[in-house]
Amino acid sequence: MQGNCIYLDNNATTRVAPEVVETMLPYMTDFYGNPSSMHSFGGQVGKAVKTGREQVAALLGADDSEIVFTSCGTEGDNAAIRAALQAQPDKRHIITTSVEHAAILNVCKQLESQGYHVTYLSVNRQGQLDLDELDAALTGDTALVTTMYANNESGVIFPIEEIGMRTKEKGAIFHVDAVQAVGKIPLNMKSSTIDMLTLSGHKLHAPKGIGALYLRRGVRFRPLLIGGHQERGRRGGTENVPGIIGLGKAAELEMLYLEQGSKKQKKLRDKLEQILIATIPECEVNGHPTERLPNTTNIGFKYIEGEAILFHLDKHGICASSGSACTSGSLEPSHVLRAMGLPYTILHGSIRFSLSRYTTDTEIDTVIEVMPGIIERLRALSPFKNDDAAWLQEQTLAHR
Ligand SMILES: *Cc1c(COP(=O)(O)O)cnc(C)c1O
Repeated sequence: MQGNCIYLDNNATTRVAPEVVETMLPYMTDFYGNPSSMHSFGGQVGKAVKTGREQVAALLGADDSEIVFTSCGTEGDNAAIRAALQAQPDKRHIITTSVEHAAILNVCKQLESQGYHVTYLSVNRQGQLDLDELDAALTGDTALVTTMYANNESGVIFPIEEIGMRTKEKGAIFHVDAVQAVGKIPLNMKSSTIDMLTLSGHKLHAPKGIGALYLRRGVRFRPLLIGGHQERGRRGGTENVPGIIGLGKAAELEMLYLEQGSKKQKKLRDKLEQILIATIPECEVNGHPTERLPNTTNIGFKYIEGEAILFHLDKHGICASSGSACTSGSLEPSHVLRAMGLPYTILHGSIRFSLSRYTTDTEIDTVIEVMPGIIERLRALSPFKNDDAAWLQEQTLAHR
């Protein structure tokens, strides 16, 4: 139990690890120097920033010089796309996928309005890409291929190195939004085709407001934020010192816990998923059964609204999500589940549970205990139970 809730929304944000808070604290009190200063008071802080950089680089199997600290995942995504286009001004084509985070999709949409041509690769019912579609889309005019490593809503993992090989053959830059992958699956940039990779602190038990962009040595880069010479001239602005130190500590903890933590989360996730599917009628898992993050399950319950399920879970102190945090609040179904072609009856009744290394067996047991009752009560109230046609008509009217 964290705070006073059962927190199963770790793909939206995570608890800051206590060790991370402890490591950061002195840099918000006594050690407030500017790491760029010439005096030793600032120099001390500069050393701590260097350690943070080494820790993040180690988690990625990268060199220290290849890490640029940013303010968040969104900034990393924006900076990577802009840099790739500026480095190849004669190329006008971008390839991405239809299930990316808004930090990629909305940048691509804006670029389309500025004359770029964007291909949005489709996914199948299990949330997977078709690499033939990628092959067909790649041309000599393709400046950038940008895909996520793992999807925040379905947890589906893309075949990154196969995408990278095809991208490199055509001479395009390969950017990966790995915000959901870092700390959940092992990564090694030394044996990778990735040119640029985005990560975000608050998805891996570091605080909000800090992220990093991995930039392979030799890949041309132009900063998004132009200013001082911080980050070797690749990102202006005085460093978020406590954030960097916290992200470094979080990276170090992931090196320790990743393997064992993933196994534990997968076991709990599988238990939750299997028992819910077995005890609740008319529900199914959205997303590929195995090519998936160990901490994520997205389950569709027919004939009810996901928001209603969330409301009842919340009354039991359980935090989960329907759609991504950025789009919930509106009743529009998630663009990811829509791209997967889920039928309307499931689209609106899908819930994501995302675990962390802090999730306990008891917490999962509580969810298993309360879910069947919640679904049964909501279905009893639903005028559409067992009537696909009526449900479809209602949804079509509601979302017109
Ligand atoms: C959360 C998330 C982002 C955005 O990261 P912020 O640090 O919140 O800006 C980008 N991509 C994916 C896949 C995410 O899950």
